[in-house]
Amino acid sequence: MVERLVDVEEVASSILAPPTPINFMTNFSKLYEKALNVSAKRQLSEDSSCGGVGAVLLTASGKIFTGICLDCPCGIGFCAEHSAVVEMLKSGESEIAEIVAVLSDGKILPPCGRCRELLMQISPENKNTLVHLSENKSKKLSELLPESYADFSINENH
Ligand SMILES: [Zn+2]
Repeated sequence: MVERLVDVEEVASSILAPPTPINFMTNFSKLYEKALNVSAKRQLSEDSSCGGVGAVLLTASGKIFTGICLDCPCGIGFCAEHSAVVEMLKSGESEIAEIVAVLSDGKILPPCGRCRELLMQISPENKNTLVHLSENKSKKLSELLPESYADFSINENH
């Protein structure tokens, strides 16, 4: 049996698909569903697990990337947003239009402080990232992190 390392159809559709127009209501449902789909928790060892939280982000060009959290002893894991960001960075993008994180029970989670700063650090344009906080509520990242270290660093260097 030949092992497929890459989902050829998924890659082809992501290359051929036109950019997704930014439409809050349409995108929320789509992103929420995708986040929920990857959110199942899996026990890796007695003390370590992955999943339990799934995150999905929509890039400025309309591509979608997912991530899951990793929980290990000594705090060496990471958040679902963090791994979705890494997936995005592999494609050469860094601007995020929208993001949502979902617990496996369907509850939406706001990004933690570290993830807010991470999103802000990878592109100054991400101050405009729409962070979904519930089905009917979202805020710009700049509203959730008004005094970011990214802004401070830029100001200090100029
Ligand atoms: Zn986080």
